[in-house]
Amino acid sequence: MKNKKEYVINGLKIDPLIFTTNFSCKCGGECCHYGVYTDFEEHKKILSLKDELIPLMDETQTTDISKWFEEPEVDTDFPSGKAVGTELFSKKCVFLDRDGLCVIQKNSMQRGRPKWQDKPIYCILYPLTIFEGALTVDDEHMERLKTCNRTNSKFSIIDSCAEELIHFLGEDGYKKLIEYRIDYFESVN
Ligand code: SF4
Ligand code: SF4
Repeated sequence: MKNKKEYVINGLKIDPLIFTTNFSCKCGGECCHYGVYTDFEEHKKILSLKDELIPLMDETQTTDISKWFEEPEVDTDFPSGKAVGTELFSKKCVFLDRDGLCVIQKNSMQRGRPKWQDKPIYCILYPLTIFEGALTVDDEHMERLKTCNRTNSKFSIIDSCAEELIHFLGEDGYKKLIEYRIDYFESVN
């Protein structure tokens, strides 16, 4: 019998797909080859860091900040109600360097800040995402990537992405998620 319960954490619905998906992160960042949608406020914060980010960029990146972001668009899955995509340069996100490192995260780490302080939340969460108010798996992006393969992993995405989920949901939210997973499997078996 299908489980019809609605699971909610911090006001966010939980798609049961995340209970049944396996995943392990195994490549050098192919997910960054398409860029990402940031919240409008995240994009403003990243632009405000330009003087820190530009010195970390290499010849495969552009230091012209007018080429860093697309035009904002309305999107209610973002806290501000507006999403702003990062642009591509050298066939990858403008913020990805030639070594496959995100200069936003690299900058935070070099300056002794929390590593994800300025990184867009969708980059932290991927291959999880928020779609229509629910935490779910970003199937669409995953399917177009050659190396981001979930079928060969024996680990649940909830375990593989524990650090990311704790960052996003908090310790209590993550504990709730584990309880929900147990509840889900008890009710479908
Ligand atoms: S493409 Fe998938 S496997 Fe590769 S770094 Fe990104 S999340 Fe990990
Ligand atoms: S902002 Fe950083 S982590 Fe996000 S897609 Fe660009 S390079 Fe990758």
